[in-house]
Amino acid sequence: MQRMPVVFIGHGSPMNAIENNVFTQGWKALAKPLPTPKGILMVSAHWFTNSLCSTNVSQPKMVYDMYGFPEELYRIQYPVQGSPELAQRLQTLLGQQLSIDNTWGLDHGAWSVLVHLFPKADIPVVQLSVNARLEPKALYAIGRALRVLRDEGILIIASGNIVHNVRMVDWDHPTTGYPWADAFDAAIQEAILKHDHERCLSYLALPGGKESVPTPDHYDPLLYVLGATDPDDTIHIYNDSRTMGSLSMTSYVWSSTSKEK
Ligand code: ZN
Repeated sequence: MQRMPVVFIGHGSPMNAIENNVFTQGWKALAKPLPTPKGILMVSAHWFTNSLCSTNVSQPKMVYDMYGFPEELYRIQYPVQGSPELAQRLQTLLGQQLSIDNTWGLDHGAWSVLVHLFPKADIPVVQLSVNARLEPKALYAIGRALRVLRDEGILIIASGNIVHNVRMVDWDHPTTGYPWADAFDAAIQEAILKHDHERCLSYLALPGGKESVPTPDHYDPLLYVLGATDPDDTIHIYNDSRTMGSLSMTSYVWSSTSKEK
């Protein structure tokens, strides 16, 4: 079985779920060369919890956790199966720190990208939360514990935004970033390409860090996937751009060329 890639998606506006734009086209291009996974482990910035949680139902429910958007967005369905087996495997890998919570399902951080990446909804998905109480190193360690899933046909996808400052969003500038947003996104990109994860862990010290990550919810998913990468993974970058001043859409795929098992 081929060692699966790991993916970070900059998801941006929920409207991307129903739009056909440069970002959603980038997501489709990103998905095209991916090997078909047996299951998807989806980490979403929008499930930001006080402990580590996953779903384990066979039919995850839709969660419409966004406000003030067109009605059409609240009718989106992503009728995918869950995977109690994958949830059980997570429990084995993560131990007591993981609890099951099926009050959640698939939120817009998950379904707004999955409808483009896997439009047939035929690959089972388990969603994993971002533990708000953990320091960057501990989040990275979760990703490291999950890395073995790559040899088990599981595609780990984290959905967030490397630059995410909602208070500073400027709707009049859909295709540009503030200088601090550009600087931070570039600094993280440089660190990722050098596999310098220490810099990604101490992101607040980087140029534009405090403005770009005023709260960690959208940045933290990146730390999970970084933990699941290997130094010799090939890195592909998609949607390398900032939007509305204070959001970054930059997305990454780490692929292994080695064959396992
Ligand atoms: Zn979001």
